[in-house]
Amino acid sequence: MSKLGDNLKIDSARLWDTINETAKFGGTAKGGVRRLTLSAEDKQVRDWFRSACEAAGCEVHVDALGSMFALRRGRDMSKPPIGIGSHLDTQPTGGKYDGILGTLGALEVVRTLNDAGIETELPICIANWTNEEGSRFAPAMMGSAAYVGDFTTDDILSRKDIAGVTVGEALDGIGYRGDVPVGTQKFSGFVELHIEQGPILEAEGKTIGVVDSGQGVLWFDGKITGFESHAGSTPMPLRRDALGTLSEIVLATERVVSTIGALGTIGEAVIANPSRNVIPGEIAFTMDLRSVDDGKLEAIEKGVREAIKEIAAHRKVEVTFDKVWHKPPTHFNKDYIAAVEHAAESLGYSHRRITSGAGHDACNLNTIMPVSMVFVPCKDGISHNELESSTQDDCAAGANVLLHTVLALTGVASK
Ligand SMILES: [Zn+2]
Repeated sequence: MSKLGDNLKIDSARLWDTINETAKFGGTAKGGVRRLTLSAEDKQVRDWFRSACEAAGCEVHVDALGSMFALRRGRDMSKPPIGIGSHLDTQPTGGKYDGILGTLGALEVVRTLNDAGIETELPICIANWTNEEGSRFAPAMMGSAAYVGDFTTDDILSRKDIAGVTVGEALDGIGYRGDVPVGTQKFSGFVELHIEQGPILEAEGKTIGVVDSGQGVLWFDGKITGFESHAGSTPMPLRRDALGTLSEIVLATERVVSTIGALGTIGEAVIANPSRNVIPGEIAFTMDLRSVDDGKLEAIEKGVREAIKEIAAHRKVEVTFDKVWHKPPTHFNKDYIAAVEHAAESLGYSHRRITSGAGHDACNLNTIMPVSMVFVPCKDGISHNELESSTQDDCAAGANVLLHTVLALTGVASK
């Protein structure tokens, strides 16, 4: 038996137009977007988003960290809304889709329901989370992290960018320090649509990624202290070379993560006082380890620490290796995952379960409410780059899955 909304589809051309229209706020010559959080360009897109949501009949409010919430009323206002949305800020040389598809896709869902005259049982709330990207202010996913209580509002307000401007000053500068305390807007659950930012869907020719998990992350700061000495007069066996040590640590890390089946990256390494005829005496480095399995993360940390100990001993250097961040893996809600999977299946889109390699606001929200995500392919898996690209059809498919997931979770009010 079919019910109201069963055959409903979003307006693909309208969604595509909004993506391209808003891309002019911070648009770059190479077709990307530079829209750092709380910048003048961010204010432009926020103003656009606010009026578009209001024009779609939503009530918009802003929290004390600038996260925006647009509420579409439901028949039963005694229950919190189903949240949908993502972020509108970008990397310094970012693309038109990362975060934007999820936010504008959510707007398109509301517009589609309006056009069809459908009232849902539960209300719907579109969210635009402040500073998902983390490129101007740390931490990344700041708005949603404070929302779930990982940081206090005051702590976040005092964070500074590289020019010394605080989050509080930046919010005031663009008029987006809202009067609603962080965490006031409650949700029954949340669904985020996003580009995959990886190559898997495209490689397998699948249209929809049903995201069931997100990787956990371990970050370390390391320091190797050897001894600086003359490149011409120090025999090889007597050297205490910090760079030679790091090289062994890099290779040992690759071995450990490959054996266990995870990811490991040494992304920063800085030689103190580098000189071509001096043996490096001191190096600071970072390490990023990722897996969807906390047990694997523990095993890798153990393996890497053992390797470092051995390498340091035979190289006769000191190595410190401090854990600075541990984000446990995300396992999304079974019912919400099933709702996304069912929507993809009933719409006839090819789909597969997938793990999110990157962090998302949805991963933060999942710690206090039921959450799932919808992924669509992006060309060559490229993201955080002006070349980031997705097709109109794939964007529309993602928004259709979002629409039908939302309809299933909110319920259509009977007339
Ligand atoms: Zn994003």
